[in-house]
Amino acid sequence: RFDSIAMAAPDAILGLTEAFNADTRPDKMNLSVGVYKDASGVTPIMKCVKAAERKLIEDETTKGYLTIDGLPDYREAVREMVFGDQVPSERVAIVQAPGGTGALSVAGGFLARQCSGGPGGPLRIFVPTPTWANHNAIMQDAGLLVENYSYLGSDRRTLDFDAMLEDLRTKPKPGEVVLLHACCHNPTGVDPTAAQWKAIASVIAERGLLPLLDFAYQGFGDGLDQDAAGLRTILDHVDEAIVCSSYSKNFGLYSERVGAVGLVTASAEATKASLSQLKKVVRSNYSNPPRHGAAIVATVLADADLTASWKEELETMRLRITHLREQFVAGMSEQAGAPDFTFLLNQKGMFSFSGLTPMQVDELKNKYGIYIVGSGRINVAGMSEDRMDWLCSAVADVIGN
Ligand code: PMP
Repeated sequence: RFDSIAMAAPDAILGLTEAFNADTRPDKMNLSVGVYKDASGVTPIMKCVKAAERKLIEDETTKGYLTIDGLPDYREAVREMVFGDQVPSERVAIVQAPGGTGALSVAGGFLARQCSGGPGGPLRIFVPTPTWANHNAIMQDAGLLVENYSYLGSDRRTLDFDAMLEDLRTKPKPGEVVLLHACCHNPTGVDPTAAQWKAIASVIAERGLLPLLDFAYQGFGDGLDQDAAGLRTILDHVDEAIVCSSYSKNFGLYSERVGAVGLVTASAEATKASLSQLKKVVRSNYSNPPRHGAAIVATVLADADLTASWKEELETMRLRITHLREQFVAGMSEQAGAPDFTFLLNQKGMFSFSGLTPMQVDELKNKYGIYIVGSGRINVAGMSEDRMDWLCSAVADVIGN
């Protein structure tokens, strides 16, 4: 029975990490997986997180199950952070989920069960080209039909906004779902401008589409508030939306699996019914979410000092990424014959599309032990200030060949 099972293809990004770990070269560098690293190459635990954990260990009295929708204080903190006073609380259903991935999966399950597609067909969700590869897998598994809309231009550096808008105007039918990266688009780092967000929001509203915002990198682009601007614009234009948020990156809680679904409805009654259906999806899947990570976020955000410390630490991470980007661009400009990389300065967040070809990516791995995803996506946070000259000359070398 199990003898005939075929091997699944390894995950393109996590597979690279396995190869990286097995690489014995001491000067190897991992620019593939989307994890923040500090100057010493470590993914640190934030001080505010450690402080919250100490408090939790002292105060925690039970390991009993959470309710299906999660920790109340966490859900309230998420509501405030994502929706603030923009949407009245009775119009928002929040469900804690295991990471942004879990949130997307719960949202997909809810949509597949509760929202109909065309006659006889599954509901369609439109994702940008390119997008985080897991979007396709998660939404397909949930039972949605995944379609694409244009996003990155043929220069592979900028948004092809006309093509994007044209696709949103013509491809999805009213009621169908459009997935948008709220900020720090993964894998390209290319985000719409404020004016472009307005035009996107108008088309979504005019056409009666349902926006699903993937909000995994708040605080990594231009700042906590600034990174919510696109989401705010969308919410200004529609009565119904879904926001899947993740606190893996901005709290550094990757392995604790902290995320949430925030579902905006047009009425208090719709909120209650939708929440009950979201809970059904959770119940038959993992029953109820893990406590620890959500309790950390709730503890930090309930304490003014810890919140201030969190914002400061997050800002330090954001500025480090910006600085590395600038340093890389400057470093490349000093390499004789290397192309201009200034376009990287317009890209936001941890990732950038470098324009490196699969062959160049391969050569960087084989010759230098520098690991980059085949698409040329670079995790800027994996760079090292001290080794920037080495990195730039390696990149120049493979481009020159
Ligand atoms: N959405 C995007 C765009 C992501 O890049 C990621 C993480 N790589 C997620 C969602 C999921 O995040 P989490 O690790 O919290 O599941």
